[in-house]
Amino acid sequence: MRRGDRALHAYVGSVSLLGFAALLVMMLGPSASFVEGHLPQVLMLTACTVLGELRPVRLARREGANSGGSVTTSTAFAFAILVMAGPAAAAVSLGLATLIADLHGRKRWYKATYNLGQYSLSVAGAALVIAWLSPTAVLLDGGRVRTDDVVPLVAACAAFFVVNSSLVGVVISLAQRASVLRGVRDELLSQAAVDGLLLGLAPVVVVVAVHNLALIPFLLLPVAAIYMSARASLEKELQALHDALTGLPNRTLFRDRAIEGMATARLDAGAMSAVLLIDLDRFKEINDTLGHHIGDLLLKEVGPRVRGSVRGDDIVARFGGDEFAIFIRDVESPELALQIAGQVRTALADPYVVEDLQLHVEGSIGIALAPDHGTDIDTLLQRADVAMYMAKETHSGSRLYTPDTDPNSRRRLTLLSDLRSAIENHHLILHYQPKADFRSGRISDVEALVRWVHPELGLVPPNDFIPLAERSGLIAPLTEYVLKEAIGRAADWRARGIDLRVAVNLSVRSLMDLDLPNRVAEMLLDADLPASFLALEITESTVMADPVRAMRVLQPLADMGVRLSIDDFGTGYSSLAYLRQLPISELKIDRSFISAMTTSENDAVIVRSTVEMAKNLGLETVAEGVETPEEEAALERLGCDYLQGYLLSRPLPADELEVALPELERIWAPHPRQWSAP
Ligand code: C2E
Ligand code: CA
Ligand code: CA
Repeated sequence: MRRGDRALHAYVGSVSLLGFAALLVMMLGPSASFVEGHLPQVLMLTACTVLGELRPVRLARREGANSGGSVTTSTAFAFAILVMAGPAAAAVSLGLATLIADLHGRKRWYKATYNLGQYSLSVAGAALVIAWLSPTAVLLDGGRVRTDDVVPLVAACAAFFVVNSSLVGVVISLAQRASVLRGVRDELLSQAAVDGLLLGLAPVVVVVAVHNLALIPFLLLPVAAIYMSARASLEKELQALHDALTGLPNRTLFRDRAIEGMATARLDAGAMSAVLLIDLDRFKEINDTLGHHIGDLLLKEVGPRVRGSVRGDDIVARFGGDEFAIFIRDVESPELALQIAGQVRTALADPYVVEDLQLHVEGSIGIALAPDHGTDIDTLLQRADVAMYMAKETHSGSRLYTPDTDPNSRRRLTLLSDLRSAIENHHLILHYQPKADFRSGRISDVEALVRWVHPELGLVPPNDFIPLAERSGLIAPLTEYVLKEAIGRAADWRARGIDLRVAVNLSVRSLMDLDLPNRVAEMLLDADLPASFLALEITESTVMADPVRAMRVLQPLADMGVRLSIDDFGTGYSSLAYLRQLPISELKIDRSFISAMTTSENDAVIVRSTVEMAKNLGLETVAEGVETPEEEAALERLGCDYLQGYLLSRPLPADELEVALPELERIWAPHPRQWSAP
């Protein structure tokens, strides 16, 4: 048995026993009451108590637990009995009611005895307060309300409520292995409004009962109304704070609890808290190929596994999609945080069986620690997010945040907010770099390269903001913008008799976007540009990040007639066998090999074998970053198909390129060439 279970059993046992003892004492003790002559009233109220207990309103509670134990309408009537007929009658009536309800609901015996115990103790608590505060121990005697009665009545109500809710709060926290103090506090807060109203009705019930028994059923109406509306608002509140699919807290609740957790974390030197952000690898793939239904069922399995792989008082939440988060209040060391992340990953890695399908999912986890990486939850979440991306990118499973790998240093953060508006305000412009055919001498292609015209910093090169855009989700609107611009430009040129295919660079996020082919098709249609006038450049590592998915984006694009090239070839770790299966037409040999090939035999060999291998695979080759005539001559000898680089032309604004184009073609076409590198 786990430690938590033992505590729960001990608690349930003691409440049952204590409650039973309290019941005995109440029954044997003196009964201060005016029950004499009011037996019909007491019987009627007992009936109402039973009814109230049989029609409880179950409120969904924290983390998907649906344990009842809430104070039902029965308590208003039981409390009225307490006032009229004393604790023994109230305890017996309430005990009878809960016993009937538990039998009816086929509750396990220990749950029933626990409920009996809980109610007995609550009644006893209220009775003690009455005995203590009221000199005669008889309230509302004869159905008259005296001023002396008010304080004991209110105090007794409060005592009943506090004892009952605390007992409930403890049992729920123990069952969920959550913090007991927090459980009790949550229970008190969440029930205060409803229970206060219900218990407050008790004196009215007494007065009505004494004066006219027939009116009692009418009292049920407002009680029911109170309950219905209270239930509706509580449910709404709980829904708003929990993820419907897994029952786990959502981001809002996670933030609240984590803030609380950090406030109460240990303060001694070296103590820290950890935020773990978990993202499932390949979940989107499963969701897209097998459908949302399967995706949802899978997430339902993932939730409990994450929950079950950490301690009960750690906070586990689902942020939506396939993103989960954990807050751990006291962690002794970064190593321990990594170890916990390892446990979570192990728990996730076991195969899932969803509707007879065996599925495998792994998680990437980013970890940020307080106070080292931030002292407020939002900073921690953001840094855990950075670490999570690092984990994904490096395939390392879980990663601790390290500041030097964070693209969000301060300068970059201001850049980031600027970039957002730059995209909206069209402060991004495209330069076009031509590519020439070695044989025909024609310039048939240009590559679109984005630049940012920053009001203060001037022209910002893409290497300074593309990685930033990739991290922040801005890459999607950026790519959209570049595609639209480039397609529009090519269409405009074509309308004016300048036939140039324009190539656009794609980031990994764009390549994972299954909707990309549709949008490209739409843009081409809008601009009235044939697909063969568009090329897309992707890097090897972009494809290898998720080859199956990449293929599902690339194939429809290729089918449409869009030309696909592998950019920066030679820098990645791609398998040739895999490249063969891709619908690509072209390899662009990375600049680093070109600039080294005339001095390094090794690089020359790489370039030569790349060109040969490409030929065998029926692919064309482009040498990028060609800067010297020597490089150009060597490449021509090797049979490379296209050349691109400063030797031919730097990337130019569209209008400048138009002007330079005839001259470039003239220089290029006849041998021997005379380069006029700018
Ligand atoms: P890339 O696709 O490899 O682009 C070639 C880069 O090399 C360009 O830098 C270009 O100006 C530069 N270059 C061209 N010829 C020469 C040469 O002879 N010598 C030298 N030293 N450099 C040369 P740029 O424009 O700064 O672009 C850098 C990278 O930014 C690009 O590398 C590409 O990966 C990325 N990028 C540019 N525009 C976009 C875009 O619209 N979307 C995405 N996702 N990435 C882009
Ligand atoms: Ca490129
Ligand atoms: Ca390149």
